Amino acid sequence: MAKKVTILGSTGSIGTQTLDVIANDRELYEVEGLSAGSNIALLLEQVDQFKPKRVCVASAADAAEVKLHVPAGTEVVHGEQGLIDLAAGGQSDVVVTAIVGSRGLGATLAAIEAGKSVGLANKETLVTAGHLVMSLAKQRSVSIMPIDSEHSAIFQCLNGENPRSIKRITLTASGGSFRDRSRDELAGVTVEQALKHPNWSMGAKITIDSATMANKGLEVIEARWLYDIGYDDIDVVIHPESIIHSYVEFEDHSVMAQLGLPDMRVPIQYALTYPERRPTPTGRLDLVKQGALHFREMDEQRYPMMRLAYAAGRAGGTATTAFNAANEVAVARFLQGEIGFLDIDRIVETVLEKHAPIANPDQATIADADAWARMTSSSA
Ligand code: NAD
Ligand code: MG
Repeated sequence: MAKKVTILGSTGSIGTQTLDVIANDRELYEVEGLSAGSNIALLLEQVDQFKPKRVCVASAADAAEVKLHVPAGTEVVHGEQGLIDLAAGGQSDVVVTAIVGSRGLGATLAAIEAGKSVGLANKETLVTAGHLVMSLAKQRSVSIMPIDSEHSAIFQCLNGENPRSIKRITLTASGGSFRDRSRDELAGVTVEQALKHPNWSMGAKITIDSATMANKGLEVIEARWLYDIGYDDIDVVIHPESIIHSYVEFEDHSVMAQLGLPDMRVPIQYALTYPERRPTPTGRLDLVKQGALHFREMDEQRYPMMRLAYAAGRAGGTATTAFNAANEVAVARFLQGEIGFLDIDRIVETVLEKHAPIANPDQATIADADAWARMTSSSA
């Protein structure tokens, strides 16, 4: 029977690649629901091609516009509540969370509550409320399949292993757009330069996060929740080629790694087909042609975001909510040309210094901490 898929954020980088995976294996899937923040033209093309039963857009005005163009019988919803209804409703088996930012939390929790399995790309939801997401998933016996390439790699390395035999997991980091520049050379960098990632083509926010290394910080916290592993046992190394997507060291010092050319369609597809593997249009890795793989130690002086993320993670409670929200605002301000590149980690550090973390927060407490951090970082 076809797997019924709902995609939150279908017009973005992960969303369009998820639809690529679906188009490539059409008979395996049915598209149940699609959501987009903007880019209504692309959403309408997707509706035309994939014929979802429901679509969600951000505003009432966009919803009115979309209603004029979709086939009769296609339900159109909007806003935060619309997204929650899309995620939780209908017949979907799996909800792919490809929206960007902690605003995806409500819909992710609603999907889990409704018993849908989750293909999780939206890492900010785990950073802001990992304890809530994971405990609800356990309670509802729902699986959370990682889409982030590093976490998919770790998931694959842990297949069939006893979690107690894990010694350490290591996330690899490409180093982002400015990996060959010193910190002093970052002061005047432009938005355009920051948006040029050497290995991956991704949405704007995560591309900036890769340049500041906030992305790897978010991923360390994401790994802590996905694999229930302490921060002392999560490590990061710089690996410029992005061929080894991450690796796990076990008690016996054996190391398992997952390799492949950088192409998000592989982890996206695996999240949808697990435990099956299917062909993909992705290129094949030729290690002989590749020749050499390189690794460098992570440098917290060069990338203060690494230090800040571990500190927030260890502080726990709402500290990771504050870390994430401050970073979201700082990145948005940088993209708008309002602040410089080096202001991003400065703002996150300032917000974390001011934040008094609350332990074991519920959803309302997280929303408050998120709002406070956004307000504080918008003028920091
Ligand atoms: P993107 O900016 O390309 O796409 C974001 C999607 O969310 C778009 O469809 C957009 O319309 C939608 N959206 C934005 N604001 C919205 C709002 N207010 N309401 C409803 N929808 C809204 O981002 P992306 O690069 O695809 O990243 C999506 C998530 O996946 C992020 O959490 C990111 O960290 C994660 N991720 C991305 C990649 C990648 O290769 N792009 C890799 C790993 C993880
Ligand atoms: Mg990643």
